[in-house]
Amino acid sequence: MTNVILFGPPGSGKGTQAKKLATNYHLLHISTGDLFRAEIGSKTDLGLEAMSYISKGLLVPDAITIGMLRKKVEENHDVNGVIFDGFPRNVLQAEALDELLAERDQRIAALIALEVDDQEIINRILDRAKTSGRVDDADEEIIRNRIQVYKGETAPVFDFYSEDGRSYKVHGVGSIDEIYNRLRNLVDTLI
Ligand code: AMP
Repeated sequence: MTNVILFGPPGSGKGTQAKKLATNYHLLHISTGDLFRAEIGSKTDLGLEAMSYISKGLLVPDAITIGMLRKKVEENHDVNGVIFDGFPRNVLQAEALDELLAERDQRIAALIALEVDDQEIINRILDRAKTSGRVDDADEEIIRNRIQVYKGETAPVFDFYSEDGRSYKVHGVGSIDEIYNRLRNLVDTLI
């Protein structure tokens, strides 16, 4: 059982790379952003509530996010492991995740952070906005908010897992395949 967190700022390529890694290593890919967007698409109460935060570039409250993540993990107990993408996004979520996995005698093997600088992120997200249809991609002000939230609330999750040597950094600029190969070289040492 190998559980990995793919970490990094918005627009760092987590979603793209998580999908490729999940296919290659036969892992379940869980993206909380995708789960929220599915709820929004189905116009559920959870989706409506989440949208009020997502549209401003803020984090959805922990109780909602952790509850949704727990449900997804519990529905998929028969897997080789999970690639978490976009979760945990603060230290409280990291503690909740560790607890959830410990209940199953599991743990996070590694947190892998994709490193990309702010200007590259803004350019990438504005470019993605042309096709993603995401309200939180279309406005530079909202993108800057998301980067601030990442630096203030999310970045400490890297330190949380580095305390016992489980955090790794990977250079996140280059072609999709170049970055994928860097990630694979690392994941191969964990599996
Ligand atoms: P993402 O697709 O990962 O960029 O997520 C899009 C948006 O969904 C984020 O900007 C947050 O508003 C919300 N979101 C996704 N994952 C989380 C999380 N773990 N905690 C709180 N909010 C989240």
